[in-house]
Amino acid sequence: MAARDTAPFAQARQELVERVRRQGVHDPRVLAALARVPRHCFVPEALAVQAYRDTSLPIGRDQTISQPSIVGLMTEAVAVQATDRVLELGTGSGYQTAILAELAAKVFTIERIHSLATAAHHRLDELGYTNVVFRIADGTFGWAEHAPYQVIVVAAAAPEVPAPLLAQLDAGGRLVIPVGSGDVQELMLVKRTRDGFERQPLLPCRFVRLVGRHGWTE
Ligand code: SAH
Repeated sequence: MAARDTAPFAQARQELVERVRRQGVHDPRVLAALARVPRHCFVPEALAVQAYRDTSLPIGRDQTISQPSIVGLMTEAVAVQATDRVLELGTGSGYQTAILAELAAKVFTIERIHSLATAAHHRLDELGYTNVVFRIADGTFGWAEHAPYQVIVVAAAAPEVPAPLLAQLDAGGRLVIPVGSGDVQELMLVKRTRDGFERQPLLPCRFVRLVGRHGWTE
């Protein structure tokens, strides 16, 4: 499957990284991770030639792979350190998971749709990632067993920040999540300080819904 090889898309991927840089992502570690992860392996084969455009794309089951510049901005915002344990909600294709796995010590990722989770798991195994743990569940409960997390990344839009995620965020931890009820939401950065939580709106964004007990009902 020549289209799945990394090499033919090397130049397209480098151009995408330049574009993400122009969108305001400056952390060299984040840009290097974007340069390493072969995004065309995360989309349906028929869409492989579109994989290096800075857009979201359908991945089946009414879900989408996130837009690369948004993945870059979210990853930069949570300032992932090499020793961090990361919780991710909404594995989807596993693209953001791979970017996080490039930067963190360990990534715990939760997806509610079985077929997407299974495909992402196989994909990341094939690409050689060994620091990712997968779970099929409603991620709005978090994953208490492995808490606390230094970083939490939510890749689907919620009406409010789910309370269990705040409880599972480490002191000094960073959480990024799209919050809002409409088609356009606000990407929020939440930091846990000694006195509580600091919230900072980052930018408007458009994500699929976070469906679950502490998200939307459907
Ligand atoms: N970052 C992913 C984005 C996937 S879209 C990528 O680049 O591929 C968001 C994903 O969140 C969808 O796959 C959707 O099924 C999932 N999702 C929605 N609600 C969820 C929940 N409560 N728990 C876990 N995953 C959820």
